[in-house]
Amino acid sequence: MAHKTIAQLSNELQTKKISSVELTQLFLDRIKRFDKQLNSFITVTEEQALSDAKKADEERSKGNAHPLTGIPFAQKDIFCTKDIKTSCGSKILDNFISPYDATVVTRFKESNTVLLGKTNMDEFAMGSSNETSFYGTVKNPWDLERVPGGSSGGSAAAVAAYLTPGATGTDTGGSIRQPAGFCGISGIKPTYGRVSRYGMIAFASSLDQGGPMARSAEDLALLLNVMAGVDEKDSTSIDKPVPDYTQTLNNSLNGLRIGLPKEFFESGLDNEIATLIQSAIQEFKKLGATIHEITLPNSGLSIPAYYVIAPAECSSNLARYDGVRFGYRCNEPKDLEDLYKRSRSEGFGNEVKRRIMIGTYALSAGYYDTYYLKAQKIRGLIRQDFVDAFKNVDIILSPTSPTTAFKLGEKTSDPISMYLSDMYTIAVNLAGLPGLSIPAGFIKNLPVGLQLVGNFFDEARLLNAAHQYQQVTDWHTRTPEGF
Ligand code: GLN
Repeated sequence: MAHKTIAQLSNELQTKKISSVELTQLFLDRIKRFDKQLNSFITVTEEQALSDAKKADEERSKGNAHPLTGIPFAQKDIFCTKDIKTSCGSKILDNFISPYDATVVTRFKESNTVLLGKTNMDEFAMGSSNETSFYGTVKNPWDLERVPGGSSGGSAAAVAAYLTPGATGTDTGGSIRQPAGFCGISGIKPTYGRVSRYGMIAFASSLDQGGPMARSAEDLALLLNVMAGVDEKDSTSIDKPVPDYTQTLNNSLNGLRIGLPKEFFESGLDNEIATLIQSAIQEFKKLGATIHEITLPNSGLSIPAYYVIAPAECSSNLARYDGVRFGYRCNEPKDLEDLYKRSRSEGFGNEVKRRIMIGTYALSAGYYDTYYLKAQKIRGLIRQDFVDAFKNVDIILSPTSPTTAFKLGEKTSDPISMYLSDMYTIAVNLAGLPGLSIPAGFIKNLPVGLQLVGNFFDEARLLNAAHQYQQVTDWHTRTPEGF
């Protein structure tokens, strides 16, 4: 039962093959049994889960069933959950009990999903391996010596090991797609503004976007149906009708124009990954798609531009952690300055400090024009490359990451090589476009992710293409041994 997709589980609940209480207990038992190895959860909300499940069963018996009613689910620990610890993977929020729910959390509550707990993540979502978490690294279920990717590594590992059928993630530069790729699951980063950021702890506000992670594109559609939509509490959320993403999953791909950015296939790409991506392209051709070479001439500048813009925004967003209002406070401060200094230096980890320093420098008078303004101009060029490309194609296809999951500790002493693991995903955030990752094969028993990028608000088309691919392949159904 635990290996079923959300769509299948929803059917089991509807036909009363299992109750939500039983299903929830099953996942809670699996978390107890397996999470000592994986460390994918920071908090498990057992009591809450069982009471949510009971309520969901009552709602279903009254005939008030939403497809997600009674489905167990996990929230990345970046989403504020009322009366439940919300740490964002940081010591500075280790004692933080949120007084309110993020809009995404509220929406899942309204559809009566069951909260199993909060998943582990890189500290403040800064990372590509989950190794910056205050709560320790998460292990990849496909190989316990390897990283699950990051920053949504806890969500990805938990879904891959069937500790939850689905989870939320957030993606500022690749943090939904890269861990989905590394763990062999499906994940979508929606268009910037599609999903409310209210109550989603800010890293880089102009790039952050929440989205779902699950076992199939069909499940992503069910989850995005709940998450998407304008929110009066988030002025950057966009007031555009939300289609029912499940309705278009079975559309034909006949005539779909798929673009391959030549820059992404040129250098730095592992040969075996390239071969798997080529076979995926063949599948899309068989499904009726046409393939076109395109160019994203400024894509090589996306990592440098991102590593100015994201730290700049984070240095401003993280200024609120001052030891005064909430979160960690140092012991016996001498005076106010000592309180700020020590609370922050004791509360933040190294990667977060590195970013705050880079960001503060880039925004300082005298350097603002040289770094921040220039990076914003480059961002404009990168966005324009995509706008031009989408005049001729409907979807852009590429690998999600240049390699498969790397070994724990392999890149921790070399931030630049860590940053490069997002070379295919970051431009998509800079442009604000939707992108998803689905499994497209294995190399030495490690999953390989395929990225599909769509035009603004074209999530339905991405999910349709991914679903059609998953009808003719079975990579997304593979199970890591022992789970
Ligand atoms: N790995 C990137 C970073 O460290 C992206 C993280 C994210 O998407 N949250 O900034």
